[in-house]
Amino acid sequence: MRKVGIMGGTFDPIHIGHLILGESAWEQFSLEKVLFMPSGNPPHKKDRHGASDEQRVEMVRRAIEGNDHFELSLAEMHEQGYVYTKETLKRLRSEHPDTEYYFIMGADSVLTFHTWMCPQEICDQCVLVAAVRNQMPVQELDLQIAKLRMMYDADIRKLESPNLDISSHAIRERFLRGESIRYYVPEPVRTYIQDGNIYGIRQSS
Ligand code: ATP
Ligand code: MG
Repeated sequence: MRKVGIMGGTFDPIHIGHLILGESAWEQFSLEKVLFMPSGNPPHKKDRHGASDEQRVEMVRRAIEGNDHFELSLAEMHEQGYVYTKETLKRLRSEHPDTEYYFIMGADSVLTFHTWMCPQEICDQCVLVAAVRNQMPVQELDLQIAKLRMMYDADIRKLESPNLDISSHAIRERFLRGESIRYYVPEPVRTYIQDGNIYGIRQSS
């Protein structure tokens, strides 16, 4: 079986937290590669105003450039908006029956996982990889992992990764306030945000 990771997200913008998660999962589970999969507009983020789909994709492209085991996947980018994870997995598995997918999530996603569309179907189709994230105590994550194992018979594994207190939201806020976002995102992403004033104050037209 081939082993391929999926790192899904809004990536508005992609930052070093996402990249370190992907790299840690690649290393820890001997994955062949990790797919970075920007999502369409998820229902819970509909009213946000951030980067456009094209800009989010371009930032991912720039961020993973030069890493030959990272790959951009447009599997969830649809003009009609959102695609559910269970559908994406179903499609990928039918296209690549020789591949086992490792779906990588940060602790906040692990905590809300049971509210996603058809969590059982997701668990039946992939290995879940859970990573710690900022303020959440490891014990709470461990408890949630145990719960998901019990509720869905999930194959869920914990990722050994550093606890990075960084989020796209905080980066957008920093940019808006005119603070430096250097090193929060890879340099080619930072210059792209800077040049396009992507998260800056909008000129009213
Ligand atoms: P936002 O602040 O806009 O919600 P975000 O930083 O949470 O953005 P997302 O695109 O929402 O980024 O997250 C995609 C995935 O990456 C989620 O599973 C999330 O838990 C995980 N993730 C994001 N940042 C981190 C981090 N610093 N540590 C661990 N996991 C993270
Ligand atoms: Mg988030």
